[in-house]
Amino acid sequence: MAQNLTKEAQELLDLLEKKEKLVAMLAPSFVIDFQYPEIVGRLKRLGFEIVAEISRGAIDTNKQLNALLKLHPGRRVITSPCPTIVRLIRNKYPHLEQYLAKIDSPMSATAKLIKKEYPGYKPVHFSPCMVKKLEASEDFPELDILALTYKDLAAVFHAKKNVALKKDLKAKFDIVGEETRLYPISGGLAQSSGITKNFTDEEYDVISGPVLADKILKDFPHKSELKILDILNCDGGCIAGPGMISVDSLSRRRQKVVDFWKSQQK
Ligand code: SF4
Repeated sequence: MAQNLTKEAQELLDLLEKKEKLVAMLAPSFVIDFQYPEIVGRLKRLGFEIVAEISRGAIDTNKQLNALLKLHPGRRVITSPCPTIVRLIRNKYPHLEQYLAKIDSPMSATAKLIKKEYPGYKPVHFSPCMVKKLEASEDFPELDILALTYKDLAAVFHAKKNVALKKDLKAKFDIVGEETRLYPISGGLAQSSGITKNFTDEEYDVISGPVLADKILKDFPHKSELKILDILNCDGGCIAGPGMISVDSLSRRRQKVVDFWKSQQK
């Protein structure tokens, strides 16, 4: 066994060794740690037949959120793509569970799409988030998702020294996202789902970072004017996730996500 491998990275190496049918699902912050399109080609040479953008699943997350808001116009909602926030609410603020949007996260939505379109393939999720590992195993065990961080992926590439970085300029995602490529930035959900257009400033709030998240959750029952809370646990959003390799400033990371989003606009 190679050194410094997490159990998830080792599990991926075992699956690759067995030549299992695998789909890679890349969170939209991948552009901070890896180059596009080279990363798609490198994942395919590693052994993934299909490479998907998680931002595709985020389109379904947005649709489900908007359907929920339409069905229950007066209902107050706390967004749920961040598994750390979901766990904070379950453990510390259980009286707020009733407000959590019971909809798919981008990870589970993408995995469901893969199960439908590519039966027999195992979804492997790559993101900067450690807690997605718990979301995969505890919240969606039936989807059989293997969740790794970008640091885990770098360790797998390191272990597979024969899968070197190449130009791979023609590599393309097999499943693509859209506006939702902004999801890893705080407020990306609110913007891409239309909440910023459809609700007044008083009716929605965008919060990131553990201190502010805790404070707004404590205050939420007393702020009845606040209808939608778009909330992520890491400061600035998933671009600050602990499984990220980059040591760039937050503003540089944010810029990379925005640049990729702009470059893929049709
Ligand atoms: S904000 Fe942080 S904890 Fe929440 S999903 Fe993103 S990386 Fe994970």
